[in-house]
Amino acid sequence: MKSCYLVDTHAHLDMSPLGHNISAVLERAAEQGVRQVITIGIDQKTSARALEIAREHPDVYSSVGVHPHDAEGTDATVIDSLVNLARENLSKVVAWGETGLDYAKEYSPRNVQKEVFAMQIDAACALGLPLVIHARDANEDALAILSSRLKQGCTGVFHCFSGDRAVAERVLDLGFYISVTGVVTFKNAEVTRDVVRYVPADRLLVETDAPFLSPVPFRGKPNEPARVRIVADEVARVREISAEEAACRTTENAQALFGLPVL
Ligand SMILES: [Zn+2]
Repeated sequence: MKSCYLVDTHAHLDMSPLGHNISAVLERAAEQGVRQVITIGIDQKTSARALEIAREHPDVYSSVGVHPHDAEGTDATVIDSLVNLARENLSKVVAWGETGLDYAKEYSPRNVQKEVFAMQIDAACALGLPLVIHARDANEDALAILSSRLKQGCTGVFHCFSGDRAVAERVLDLGFYISVTGVVTFKNAEVTRDVVRYVPADRLLVETDAPFLSPVPFRGKPNEPARVRIVADEVARVREISAEEAACRTTENAQALFGLPVL
């Protein structure tokens, strides 16, 4: 099998400490064979910054979107400006998100989260961009809204997937991908490892969610894209495939979903 590089499909390169020296972060990633990174926006300001970072670094791509934490105060004007930002930069903006529902922290009221999520599904589908879904303690409602709202051919990924096999089945039925973070290395994450075993090879993605969710043995320390290598190696171990195969398959999937160039 050919040698495959890895893609970190979800990082926040603008956030501290990554944002202090992004070139060094990308160099350390490259040393681990991580050659493409998607940096994710969580509101208007960070979406603009994510795009700026993507334009400064040839192998970095970005998303635009509003995190459910920031749903309150987000109106059609905000969404329209993000639509325009994406539309003018479609060679670099490869996804819409992260968007979704977070009932664990519930920083914005649930009804507002739902409304802003629905608006973003419409925007992503109109642009033809895949959705990056953040769902915490909210898989049921997220699936219900997606089912009623998604247009034909519109798809995406459940990032940092937190459900069990039954939820995964419904996500897959909707045509979505499932992405796992360093959580898959945590001792108490048997349900996530079970999902990793279950997801078809052509629907699984890996990500860091850096600077959050560092895998073991770096748990609790700031995370960075280089460590998606650890996530992919754990996926390989759990699925009983070679590390090489895990890298090849997850990278092919990232390229298929986000339309990334093949290096
Ligand atoms: Zn994130």
